[in-house]
Amino acid sequence: MMLKLKNLGKSFGRGESEISVLDGASLEIGRGEIVALVGPSGSGKSTLLYIAGLLDKADSGEVIWDGSDCARLSDGERTKLRCSRIGFVYQNHNLFADFTALENVALPMMVAGIAKARALENSAAMLAKMGLAHRSCHRPAELSGGEQQRVAIARALANSPALLLADEPTGNLDPYNSEAVFSELLKLVSGTKMSALIATHNPILAARMHRRVALVDGRLVDMGAPGAAAVLKKSPAGKKIFESFG
Ligand code: ADP
Ligand code: MG
Repeated sequence: MMLKLKNLGKSFGRGESEISVLDGASLEIGRGEIVALVGPSGSGKSTLLYIAGLLDKADSGEVIWDGSDCARLSDGERTKLRCSRIGFVYQNHNLFADFTALENVALPMMVAGIAKARALENSAAMLAKMGLAHRSCHRPAELSGGEQQRVAIARALANSPALLLADEPTGNLDPYNSEAVFSELLKLVSGTKMSALIATHNPILAARMHRRVALVDGRLVDMGAPGAAAVLKKSPAGKKIFESFG
């Protein structure tokens, strides 16, 4: 098992304003498995992805990577694991404005300890794969939304991570670009041993992954492979997801 999330709990705020976002969320992702994370806005998809990606910590529960409990790691070890094995695509690209596409993709590899020349070489190869070779020397502001998100995907994948986490990676794109960028992403991930957890509120995109899980009342409910009968709790949120995803 690549990644195991066990009984995660997470709340924000304190006292009367406290909101519980995750409440016993559990999930296992196997090697090479591509899982869609669905759920309405505010259901906790980003929170879950940040915890799985070691960018944030849960209040309770366990994040188990390749059999080892991440709570036992030092901050330095967590950072190392995150930089070397996890690729993260944010909803809003999060590229550095002052750096070119080539540098944006190369930077995390350099942070992970790869020599500059090799990082730039990998970066150029990855941008070429995303059809952006001719845009390598441009800064994010000079690129379209679709191109920016392609650079962000190239950055996440350049270091060949074991796990890709993507937070509504095409959520801010128009339908045409969303479809194109999403297809490229799936093509790059499938056929490799990379596992992926991809949040989306688009049922058509979710249906193209191996399996779908829904966040319902702070827990993860397995909706099975596309077309399989969904088993959902009888909660208003669950019903809503069931209706939209069939
Ligand atoms: P989703 O990605 O499914 O839209 P989020 O994980 O972003 O959901 O948010 C889940 C809930 O947690 C929302 O109600 C949001 O307002 C709240 N939340 C997320 N991050 C924070 C934070 N840092 N401080 C306070 N509330 C937060
Ligand atoms: Mg979100």
